[in-house]
Order: sequence, then structure tokens, then C-alpha cells
Amino acid sequence: MTAYKDLTKEELLDLKNGLTKEFEEVKGKGLKLDMSRGKPSKAQLDLSMGMMDVLNSGTPLIGEDGTDCRNYGVLDGIKEAKQLMADMMEVSVDHVIVCGNASLNIMYDAVSRAMTHGILGSTPWAKLDKVKFLCPVPGYDRHFAITEHFGIEMINIPMTPQGPDMDMVEQYVNHDESVKGIWCVPKYSNPQGITYSEETVQRFAGLTPAAGDFRIFWDNAYGIHDLYEEEQDCLLEILAECEKQGHPDMVYKFSSTSKITFAGSGISAIAASEKNLKEIRKSMSIQTIGHDKVNQLRHVRFFKDIDGMKAHMKKHADIMRPKFETVVQVLEEELGGLAIGSWIVPKGGYFISFDALEGCAKAIVAKAKEAGLVMTGAGATFPYGKDPKDSNIRIAPSFPTPEELMTAAKVFVLSVKLVSIDKLLEQAG
Ligand code: PMP
Repeated sequence: MTAYKDLTKEELLDLKNGLTKEFEEVKGKGLKLDMSRGKPSKAQLDLSMGMMDVLNSGTPLIGEDGTDCRNYGVLDGIKEAKQLMADMMEVSVDHVIVCGNASLNIMYDAVSRAMTHGILGSTPWAKLDKVKFLCPVPGYDRHFAITEHFGIEMINIPMTPQGPDMDMVEQYVNHDESVKGIWCVPKYSNPQGITYSEETVQRFAGLTPAAGDFRIFWDNAYGIHDLYEEEQDCLLEILAECEKQGHPDMVYKFSSTSKITFAGSGISAIAASEKNLKEIRKSMSIQTIGHDKVNQLRHVRFFKDIDGMKAHMKKHADIMRPKFETVVQVLEEELGGLAIGSWIVPKGGYFISFDALEGCAKAIVAKAKEAGLVMTGAGATFPYGKDPKDSNIRIAPSFPTPEELMTAAKVFVLSVKLVSIDKLLEQAG
């Protein structure tokens, strides 16, 4: 394989001719493919249909401690659901509150509460001139949307293979009191699939923030979403690490079963220190009388315990693994050695992150769309939707069927090749 940059202008034009014909053929097929969002596929959702059977009209909806799950009450979640989520989040049960159908709104609420009421007696963020959040990039667009919504200034922090650039994180957090938080997806990050190293987690726990109300927003959405049984990334548990280093209140952990059972109809939880939880419960008790305990019961009866949940995740992995491998194989076969893009091969999570030549991402996504393939909007992986290099594209392989995925991956690489050639021709003048 010759790198495209080493081809002459004539060779590039020749290549472009052939690829354009190929592209027009694909376009003529009127494809409708979607690799835009990290949605579980139908086959994955079907895995949890048993959850609809564990509760039927004859089942008493009574929790272990006698709670009638059909009635009001129990703000924290039923005992057995707290245990399940605590085990999933690797914390003790007194550090967990089980919440509603999904985790994003707990994160929104955490930011919203800090804006209006401050944290543990601090000045409400809305009353401050400036509030800033650190945003490891590329990252999750919906995190950035929350902070943007509240007018919080977002600062890009580059990701490394070990997690966010911790020198930069320490510099900001320890010296700038307007820095109030950081968004983290610590295991199989969205979109790169990077797991923070032990040293990174220890450095997080060792931060000495200039702002007393600085919080790490630790969104462990993919904590048990491994693709391989033999090769799993390992993440140090941050709450215990923060306690060990004398900063027990510095982190809020979030998680949900959205990508374990039903997306948007799962159960979610927040884990934090007792002091933080007390404050959260106070405002939560104004917001709601209690979350959906019937759904909590259904989840616990379906999985029984964390071992049941982990066994269930192996079934997800069996569906996801071939999809990831298909995309990676097409990328390697079609783009390997051409030096027009790079990607990370993740061992879990929901995404593959692709970095195109600078200034090409938007055009690639548009090109793919011409042929009927919808990708996540270029720029979405950065705060304000602005990728300074216009290079990162998030690939979400979960939703299409394996056959669709092969076609989608081929349309994608074809689009990458065509746009890269145009870029190189433009540079050649
Ligand atoms: N966090 C991350 C990192 C995600 O990728 C997603 C879903 N794409 C969510 C949170 C959303 O989770 P939930 O459905 O629990 O709101």
C-alpha cells in the first residue's frame, strides 16, 4: 500500500476516477444505513425480553423488606436494586441512590442543583461570574450539551491512551477556582474506547481543587460492557481512591442499565459520599416521591444478582464483537497503510473513534450521507460542536445488522478515500 500523500497528482486523479464510479454505483442502490447513535440493536434488546415475564399479574410486587413496589415511597430505591447497582458500580450499598429510567438526567440534575443551590453550602454557580468545566476530547456530545445549556464555559482537554492529559487537568483544577467540574467516561470512553489507567485514576483522586465545590462527573456508562472475556480493561474504583486520598466528596459516579436491558427504560444510579448523597436526597425529595420501583424489582428479579448481570453482558458481547471486528477489518483492509486516517481498536464500549486527515471530517460525513449512510455529525464529539481540527468521526457499529454493517463500513471507507484525495489534490494546488 502506498500512502496517498506519496502519490503523484496524476495517480491521485486516476484513483479518484475509479473510486467515484464505485461511489456512484453504491449511491444508486438507495441505501438507508445508520451508524450515528450508540443504540443497542433489536437483537440486543430481545435479550432482555425475559424481564417482561418475571412480573406477571400473579406475582406479588413486594420487595425483600416488605415494600409494596406498587405504592409511593422509598426515595433511594428498593433494597435489592440498591445492592445490584452498588455491585455494578463497585461501591458499598450506602453509597448509592437508585434513580429513574436513565442516567443522563441525574447528571443534568447534578449540574442544575449546583447552579441553583451550590454544593454543600457553596455559592450557587449561577451567581458566579464564570464557571468552567473541563471536557476531555473527543467526548460525549450530550455531556457537553448539558454544560453548554447552563452557560458553563467548556475547556478542551486532549485524551491520551491513558485517559485525559492529567498535567493539564491538574494545572486547571488545582489553580483555577472557576473550574468546577470535569466530564469523564472512564471505561471504554465514548467515543475512543479508552480506559483510564490506574495512574490516571490515582491522579484524579489526588487533585487538590482550587474550588471547594469542584466535582468529578464520573460517568461509568460502559463499566461492564466488555467485548472479550479474556481481555478486559480494568478500571480502578474512584470513590474508594478519593476516600483513600482524603477527598471523599470530590466525585459523583453515574451509571445505568440503558445498554444492559432497555435503552431509556432501564434503571440508573448515582454513587457518592454520604455527605453528597444527603444533599442530593434533600433536593430529590422535592422532585419526586420516589422512582419506578416496579421497574427496579423487574430488573432485580431478572438478573438475580451481579453475576446474572455479567452473564447477560456476555450475550451482548457475542452480538457486538463481530460488529466491531467487521468495522475494524474493513478499516484495516481498505485504509491500512494509506495514511489518511487512524483509529483505535477498543476492547469494549459502544464506539470506534476515527481520526481523518485534518479538515476532512465534515466532508466525509456529508459524502457518506450522499450514499445513504448517516454518521454522527462531525464535530459532535467536541464542546460547542467544534472540532478544531475537523478530524474526529464517531463510528457507532451497534445498531445495524451485521450485513448492513459491512456495507456501511465500505461506504464509509469509500467516503474517506474520496474526501482525502480531494484534500491532497487541493494541497497540491
Ligand atoms: N453516558 C454515556 C457516556 C453514554 O454514551 C450514554 C449513551 N449513549 C449515556 C450516558 C446515556 O445513558 P442513559 O441512557 O443512562 O441516560
